[in-house]
Amino acid sequence: MREHKEYILGIDIGGTNFRIGLVSRNREIRDFQIKSITELQKGDFITNLLENIKYYTDVYKNEIEGIGIGFPSIVSKDKKYVYSTPNIKNLDNINITDTLEKKLDIPVYINKDVNFLILKDIKENNIGKDKIAIGLYIGTGFGNAIYINGQIIEGKHGVAGELGHIPVLNSKKECACGNIGCIEAHASGKVLKKIVEENFSGLNIDNIFTNYGNTEIIKNFIDSLAVPIATEINILDPDYIIIAGGVPIMKDFPIEELKKAIYRKVRKPYPAEDMNIIISKHDQKSGILGAAYYIRNYVEQNL
Ligand SMILES: [Zn+2]
Repeated sequence: MREHKEYILGIDIGGTNFRIGLVSRNREIRDFQIKSITELQKGDFITNLLENIKYYTDVYKNEIEGIGIGFPSIVSKDKKYVYSTPNIKNLDNINITDTLEKKLDIPVYINKDVNFLILKDIKENNIGKDKIAIGLYIGTGFGNAIYINGQIIEGKHGVAGELGHIPVLNSKKECACGNIGCIEAHASGKVLKKIVEENFSGLNIDNIFTNYGNTEIIKNFIDSLAVPIATEINILDPDYIIIAGGVPIMKDFPIEELKKAIYRKVRKPYPAEDMNIIISKHDQKSGILGAAYYIRNYVEQNL
């Protein structure tokens, strides 16, 4: 039986900022910081990351149980490497886990950020291990995590749940992943930003749904968001459909319109007539809490 220590150090790497902080056994967060990602990009990524971790390990030396790091990337099946992070430089193809563990002598767990987030949502909504839950995280991109029978579905290479990259028939739009015609190139925060720039010049994006929610172009955007969501619902017939991310929590986001659009596209009578959609609120600390759930409620229980 392992001894359990007081804290998990959670690190949530994003395209613009990264967030770092300790999560106690009572889920209280200590010494939370938000920092610019450029701090990790000048020179060697691991050296810079270690520098930030040291701030915590110096003070809380023997009280840190493990370190959980979420990346907006594809993470290898063995959870040591990060593959393909379009928005962050000098990160790909380094053995992050082993390098950090050797230097710190603390267990290190890395994963796709959405795999941490879904565990937070599962825990907070008391979703049982016998249920199927899907997480749709609509931020800059379109993130997805799938939870079945108490397991996050990872696939042969650890890259399952790349729902944002399902192909759209006849689409010629370029996606950040390098392919042409991914749904993410039609349905994501990036796309919304472009719509605002091209059609509502000068408008603060925060007001797009309040001022222009009824325009054809915004209604089409909402309809596009429903395409990948309905696709996954049709495949899995999930017990819970968790929708979160920066876009759905924008002011006056038309949640009911999105639900109607999903309903239109989902198979009748079921799953359409009995969908359990949860709109989950996330903030800057969610990734860190998710990292703590991952280590305490997922990894350690299956060890
Ligand atoms: Zn793509």
